Amino acid sequence: MMGNNDSTQENAKAHFIDHTKNPDSPTIFDKILKGDIPCKKVYEDEDVLAFNDIQPQAPVHVLVIPKKKWKSFSNLHLAKDEVVGVYMKKVSYVAHQLGLDGPGYRVVFNHGEHGAQSVDYIHAHILAGRSMQWPPG
Ligand code: 5GP
Repeated sequence: MMGNNDSTQENAKAHFIDHTKNPDSPTIFDKILKGDIPCKKVYEDEDVLAFNDIQPQAPVHVLVIPKKKWKSFSNLHLAKDEVVGVYMKKVSYVAHQLGLDGPGYRVVFNHGEHGAQSVDYIHAHILAGRSMQWPPG
């Protein structure tokens, strides 16, 4: 099937890091939030931190993480409505502040192996600055 061939699957597997052996060890984003690892910050407030992705997949590639940790989009449904609402509003606000409302952008949450998630700390990818393809790879 197009877009779901062996090399695509292998790429997804290579990208995915299995954190299940030590699920509670701090992730790279815990360390960024703590200030132990530097990042190029684009926005911060009491709820979220937004910073440039180290391997940008588009001219604009910003990650938005909540300061209260959730491991993945898959367990966000367990959070209080207000927590989810605030986080989603802040992702939208960061894109707005970056001037992306006019040209447009894509927001991506990767979960698990098939989603090619590599960091076990929920993060929204804001991708912009070029036309995106659909379906995604
Ligand atoms: P995921 O694949 O889990 O959805 O996305 C994780 C993202 O984090 C990737 O796009 C990757 O490039 C980015 N990333 C990994 N390590 C670092 C880092 O140390 N600093 C920054 N700024 N981004 C990182």
